[in-house]
Amino acid sequence: MLKKQDIRALTKEQLRNFFTKNGDKAFRGNQVYEWLWHKATHSFDDMTNLSKETRMMLEENFVINHVEVDEMQRSNDGTIKNAIKLHDNLLVESVLIPTETRTTACVSSQVGCSLDCNFCATARLKRMRNLNPDEIYDQVVVIDKQSRLYHNHKLSNIVFMGMGEPLLNYKNVLESIEKITSDEGLGMSPKRITLSTVGIPKMIKKLADDDVRFNLAVSLHSAIDEIRSKMMPINEKNDLAELLESLNYWYSKTNKIITFEYVIWKDINDSQKDVNALVTYCKKIPSKVNLIEYNAIDDGEFQQASKAATAMYVKTLEANNIVVNVRRSRGKDIDAACGQLANKSS
Ligand code: SAH
Repeated sequence: MLKKQDIRALTKEQLRNFFTKNGDKAFRGNQVYEWLWHKATHSFDDMTNLSKETRMMLEENFVINHVEVDEMQRSNDGTIKNAIKLHDNLLVESVLIPTETRTTACVSSQVGCSLDCNFCATARLKRMRNLNPDEIYDQVVVIDKQSRLYHNHKLSNIVFMGMGEPLLNYKNVLESIEKITSDEGLGMSPKRITLSTVGIPKMIKKLADDDVRFNLAVSLHSAIDEIRSKMMPINEKNDLAELLESLNYWYSKTNKIITFEYVIWKDINDSQKDVNALVTYCKKIPSKVNLIEYNAIDDGEFQQASKAATAMYVKTLEANNIVVNVRRSRGKDIDAACGQLANKSS
């Protein structure tokens, strides 16, 4: 038997063509497209403005691949972690992070990760595959529903800070954002979406060329090549100078300032020399710094720096007029915090 095609891999134009080829009107394609995306329907039977025959015909030709929440854990701070099962039974994790004024969805872009950042739990999993646009979109739909149910308001922000490196799944990530922001999808503002990357200069330039409207965050962690390369092997071939050049290109095209994500670790990057290097780096590109609390992943090789080290960073950055935020860790009790996503529940 022929394997049925995933209908959500089709563009609206292809759907319209499918109907005209089958002797129906092209606008049926628009109707189906609306069910598939805006209404995020899982079954052809729900498409009530189509005739029974049309629904059966769709059923014979296509499947609607969709994700399922395999397990949901709720933290005592309101954070929700979902183990999301894909159509081929692989798992990724997505997190809902509530604050008083908003909810943020932290979504995954790949199953596992091919980068070897040695402080990150996801890096311990090998990369299995890229997520499709619909699989990224569905994570947002799931979290939007949870936000309405548990926090009484719709989802307000999205960060691509879950499992995987979004810029190594470039096409699908951009397609998912296109659908998330389109009125035919979820109609969210790109200003409320942030893509976080390990920092791949070539792809950052491509983002700028593609005229994207969302925000960019870069996981910096050190502004000294020698130290950054030790933690993030990607830095060996894509060093800080090249990264900076790509970020300046991004800024020149988009006018959007960069957020640097930065964890301070004991005895690794907690000295005055480290913060001075960060200041020098930040002065070369319009940027702000988010200091992220370290979330321990296992063996204790990495340890959160002292409060005094964080205070020194804040003081030095502020003295140099660089905006700095200290980000509290969320959902730690359920392993839902940054860098802890590793399908432990599976
Ligand atoms: N690959 C992308 C997105 C995933 S990681 C990237 O590298 O940006 C999201 C953020 O969590 C990154 O800033 C990453 O460096 C950080 N992170 C990874 N492990 C962490 C840990 N154990 N504690 C705190 N932050 C961590």
